[in-house]
Amino acid sequence: MAGDAFLKSIESNFQNAVRCLNATYEDDQLGEDLATKILFTFTGYRSVHSEHFEPVKGGIRFAPDVNQDEVEALAALMSYKCSLVEVPFGGSKGGLIIDPREWSEPELERITRRFTQELAKRDLIHPSQNVPAPDVGTGEREMAWMADEYKRLNPAELNAWACVTGKPVSKGGIAGRTEATGRGVEYALRAFFDHPRDVARTGLTPGLRGKRVIVQGLGNVGYHAALFLSTEDEALVTHVLERDGAVVDETGIDIAALRTHIMETGGTKGFPGYVNSGMEMLEADADILIPAAMELVITEDNAPNIKTPLIIEAANGPVSAEADVILRERGVVIIPDLYANAGGVTVSYFEWIKNLSRIRFGRLQRRAEEARFNALIDGIESMLGKQFPHDIAARAVEGGTEIDLVRSGLEDTMRNTYEVISKVWNSEKLATDLRTAAMMVAVRRIAQSYQTLGI
Ligand code: GLU
Repeated sequence: MAGDAFLKSIESNFQNAVRCLNATYEDDQLGEDLATKILFTFTGYRSVHSEHFEPVKGGIRFAPDVNQDEVEALAALMSYKCSLVEVPFGGSKGGLIIDPREWSEPELERITRRFTQELAKRDLIHPSQNVPAPDVGTGEREMAWMADEYKRLNPAELNAWACVTGKPVSKGGIAGRTEATGRGVEYALRAFFDHPRDVARTGLTPGLRGKRVIVQGLGNVGYHAALFLSTEDEALVTHVLERDGAVVDETGIDIAALRTHIMETGGTKGFPGYVNSGMEMLEADADILIPAAMELVITEDNAPNIKTPLIIEAANGPVSAEADVILRERGVVIIPDLYANAGGVTVSYFEWIKNLSRIRFGRLQRRAEEARFNALIDGIESMLGKQFPHDIAARAVEGGTEIDLVRSGLEDTMRNTYEVISKVWNSEKLATDLRTAAMMVAVRRIAQSYQTLGI
C-alpha cells in the first residue's frame, strides 16, 4: 500500500512537471519537441510467469487498456495452457498500451520494431528463452516486423526466425497458424460432443448439428470458430455481437459474408439482420455461447441472465470469478479458456519446431507416402481384377501437405486433452467443473516438472 501511494506521488510529480514544461515552452520548438517526445513514449510489458520449460511463450497484445496486472494474469494462464496441452513451454505474455487503429502502418512498424529492441535488450524475445506470438490487436504483420528486427539485431543467429511465432508463411510461418485458435475451438466442441455423458450435463441433445450459437467478437478467433462451426459442423450461428451492434438470424448467419461486410464498411451496420444492440445479446436464447474477444465480458451482473447451457471460452478470461460461481451453481457448463483456446499456442509450437528444423512439414515423406499407397492400390486392383474407386483412391494416395499435418496435430492435441480433462471431471470428487479439472491437470504437471528439477 505504501508502495502504491509512493508510486502515485511520483507519477503526479511527473505529470505536474510535464504540464509546467509544456506551458513554459508553449510557443517554441523545444516545447513542441518535448510534447512530441512525451506523447510518443509508449508503455509496454512482458511478464514471465513460470520457467519450468523454456522458452516461455505467449502473445503480445496492442490495446489501449493493457496494464501490468492483466499481462501478469495472462502470463500465468499461458503456463497452465501450455502445461494442459503438453506443449513444452513456460508461460509469458506481453502488451503495449496503444490503440493500433489510431496509427498508420509505417508508424506502427516503427513502434513495433522499437518495442522489439527493448524486449531483445532484456532477453524477453529470444528463440530459446522467450517467444512472443500474436494476440489482441496484433497479427502476422507485427510478428514479421518483430522477427525481422530480431534478425537484424542478431544477424548470425541461426535460429533467429524462431524468436516469434504467428509469422506469415512467406516469413517462416506455418500453414494454419492464423486459423489455429478458432479451429481449436471447433475441435474442442467436437471433442465435448463426442462425450455423451458430458453433453448430458448441459441438457443439450447430442451432436453439434443444428445447435444455435452466439459468437461475441468476430475477430480472428471468433471468425474462424464461427466459420468452421457453420460450414463444417452444420451448427447455426444465430447471433454475432460486435463493437457497433449485433446481427441476428435464426436460420444461421452467413459468416464469410458478414466478415467481408465488416472489413469493407468497418462494422455490422447495414448487414441483413443488423440490430442496434450491446452486450445484452449475450443473454439471448441459444445453445452455445462463444465469447471470443476480451476478458471479463460475463460478470456477476449478466451471469444470472445467461440462457445458454454451454459456454466455450474462445477468449482469455471472458468469465469473471464471481460469474463463474453463479454459472456453475446454475448448472451452466463452461469449457475453459486454458483448454478451449489452446489451439493457437499448439500450432505456435509446431511453427517453432519448423523454424528450428528449417524444413516444411511433409516435405521429406509426402511423395514416398503417395508411392506406397499407389503400390497398395495397384496390388488390390490386380488381385481383384477391378478398378479401385477413383475418388477414394485419390484421397488415400494424396500425401499430407503442411496444412493437413498441422490440422491433424491440432485435432489430436485437442481430442487427447479433452479425454484427460473429462476423465478427471467425471472421476475426481473435487473436480466439480471442467475449469477445476483442467487446472488440476495443468498444475499437477507443472508441480511434477519442478519436483523432478528438485526445486
Ligand atoms: N496469444 C495466444 C494465446 O493467448 C497465442 C500464444 C502463442 O501462440 O504463444 O494463447
